[in-house]
Amino acid sequence: MAVPSIFDLSLDALTATVREWGYPAYRARQVWEWVYQHKAEDFAAMTTLPQALREQLASHFRLSGLTLVAEQRSSDGQTVKRLWQLPDGQMIESVLMAYDDDRRTACLSTQAGCAMGCVFCATGQMGFARHLTAGEIVEQAVQFARVLEAEGERLSNVVLMGMGEPLHNYDATLEAIRRLNDPHGLNIGQRHITLSTVGLVPEILRFADEGLQVGLAISLHAATDEERSRLLPINRRWPLAELLDAVRTYIERTGRRVTFEWALIAGENDTVEQAEALGRLLQGLKCHVNLIPLNPTGGYDGRPSDPERVAIFQAVLRAYRIGSTVRVRRGIDIQAGCGQLKAQVVRGQRRQRKASPSEPRS
Ligand code: SAH
Ligand code: SF4
Repeated sequence: MAVPSIFDLSLDALTATVREWGYPAYRARQVWEWVYQHKAEDFAAMTTLPQALREQLASHFRLSGLTLVAEQRSSDGQTVKRLWQLPDGQMIESVLMAYDDDRRTACLSTQAGCAMGCVFCATGQMGFARHLTAGEIVEQAVQFARVLEAEGERLSNVVLMGMGEPLHNYDATLEAIRRLNDPHGLNIGQRHITLSTVGLVPEILRFADEGLQVGLAISLHAATDEERSRLLPINRRWPLAELLDAVRTYIERTGRRVTFEWALIAGENDTVEQAEALGRLLQGLKCHVNLIPLNPTGGYDGRPSDPERVAIFQAVLRAYRIGSTVRVRRGIDIQAGCGQLKAQVVRGQRRQRKASPSEPRS
């Protein structure tokens, strides 16, 4: 079996291991700080630890569970996308986005693939492979934070909007949020973390009761059950009325404004009728709508809406006093849509295999 990654240990498990080896518990806290605070790349660099402990750690654990497969930088240099391979060969993506106000936001994956099957989503088109561990989720952030810190910057925000449905992988996602937030770790404020969900109602309610101040984004994309069920199959299980009730509970419990995401698809969900239905659905709710022109994907023939349609859609929402922002598609030139870089790399590998059929398949 592969040597486990140190990221796959909770602080309790690390403490138990260190004590088993005959060291006091505070040594585990030191290791933890080397991993999450100093982002050490080598056990030998953990200079406050006894030499023997560093050697024991090195013989039992790896300091990384992620292997970089591909990296792309957008032409303006503001967006970096990474494709990682996990020890079992699965591939996931994460993205780092720089903003003019000094924010540095990492977009993390929570699953390899996704089981939710949203028709326009590159990850949904791949199907579900497996849940990520809490360590695999957090390490994506640590990897970006390390690069930023070497440049005198700091990772300030995290969005769980990469591959996968975070609330389908509830426990690992929650543990990852706690580690991201840990003052002895990455120390990212709860208000600077946002979780995006397709709308798993029981888990939204559970999440509302965690006593956290994490931002919630709901992938809405349609304001009638008929239209939403066509785009997001999960709507058949948790239709709009139940979803909106859960969102109201989240707002009540946390006091936080919720964001609704809406990928604008020409002639599909960018109509005045959908805008009116959305206005009625969200009226009076403490919320904001992010309008994102669809990022075209291989498995879906929808197109992004024209700017004129987007403007009309936004004007209708304004009439209902609902704030909205048209989000600039970050890194469109580097396949920075959810799951798109992996889809591109896998297509390339298939082409290569076709070109040299004698090569063994991985
Ligand atoms: N599974 C979660 C989080 C990951 S997807 C969720 O669905 O919310 C992050 C966001 O990207 C979601 O709002 C999703 O609907 C959106 N998205 C996926 N594919 C897209 C595409 N091709 N164009 C625009 N937005 C897309
Ligand atoms: Fe999964 Fe989110 Fe993509 Fe839907 S949009 S398939 S929930 S990753």
